[in-house]
Amino acid sequence: MATFVPLLAREQVERLPARAREVVEYRKSGLSLNHIQGCPLDCAYCIRHTYGLWDARQPRALMSDADAVAELVGHRYFQPHVTPVQVFNRATDPFLPNVRPHTFAVLEDLDERGLTNHVLVITRHQMKPADVDRLNQLRHVKVTLLFTYSGIDNKQIEPYPSHVAAESLKLMSAPARRKYRTVLYWRPLVPGLNDSDEHLTTARELGEHADATVFTGLFYRAEIADYYKANGLPEPYDETARRKIVPETLEKRVLAAFPASAPLFRKTSCAVSYAHGLSDYNGHYGIRELCDICPLSQVELCAGAHRVPTADQLRHAAASLPEARGLEVVEVSEQAVVVAGLDTEQPRYYLQHALGFQVHDVAHPHRNRRHGRAEIGWKETSGND
Ligand code: SF4
Repeated sequence: MATFVPLLAREQVERLPARAREVVEYRKSGLSLNHIQGCPLDCAYCIRHTYGLWDARQPRALMSDADAVAELVGHRYFQPHVTPVQVFNRATDPFLPNVRPHTFAVLEDLDERGLTNHVLVITRHQMKPADVDRLNQLRHVKVTLLFTYSGIDNKQIEPYPSHVAAESLKLMSAPARRKYRTVLYWRPLVPGLNDSDEHLTTARELGEHADATVFTGLFYRAEIADYYKANGLPEPYDETARRKIVPETLEKRVLAAFPASAPLFRKTSCAVSYAHGLSDYNGHYGIRELCDICPLSQVELCAGAHRVPTADQLRHAAASLPEARGLEVVEVSEQAVVVAGLDTEQPRYYLQHALGFQVHDVAHPHRNRRHGRAEIGWKETSGND
């Protein structure tokens, strides 16, 4: 099977780090397909650092697109029409010149199967007018293009200029009739780096082109912090965290910079769902304080879809997963189900999407009003969600 990027031989694939070999992986916003890995754009904060793939600058295929899609839809976590899917969001950019044919091949294969799942495609690369027509041919899948834009102009941190993503967002949002949706994926917001009043104003103006805007912070994991230190980059925080970091004062300034009526969201799934006129597929509605900036019509939509599952329903949904044998339901509330006994995050995300309801791990409590973000930059407030 021909690929547009070099296809790795089996022995080469076997030499990759273990996590890199996992081409289907559940991440928070969906089941992620990553059979093309490698990126020359060199964003210093790239998640590739955490997969042992930072040195992979040229995209390579681990398998053909057809095999990859077969693996995705045959995966135990994949539920037709339900599971949100993300294509190439971990180790490459889906619209790099030699990756884009693979991106379209995956989208078209999923569409030909009649699947109506959400498919998220995150890019900062240049898009072309012909992309509008090609995406408009898709009849079933709900495609959302998320344009990563930060406004960071420090070339050591982000060598690939942010204005490219801004232009792509405008281009792809302009057609009055289009099947796909566009989101300004405003990230990573870092205090002192890209949060001046001017940065906020530019982002607000850009957001006017998109169907929705989501803002979020930086994943500042240990491997990324090590890279910053080794390369003498200005370190944004003096500690690392497993969640994205958005300090409280920064969030307040972002909210103040946008009109109250703007479709601005804290969560990617909320922005994507809103853009398609659907309730949030991650069930964030239970976390009531998340919704205070959401358009009223959307709040009503999510309220109508909010169903608190029973512990039995959760156990039933988990029954097909061998890795969830140790599952314990600690608590069920209007906000979330709290579980214990899961070794990794992936089955928890599966359950969250199967039930359309938040499923939290007792070991990682969500703090009130921090919106599932890292604790860095927030004053102590009352307990768990
Ligand atoms: S109502 Fe709440 S859960 Fe639904 S999209 Fe808005 S912010 Fe998200």
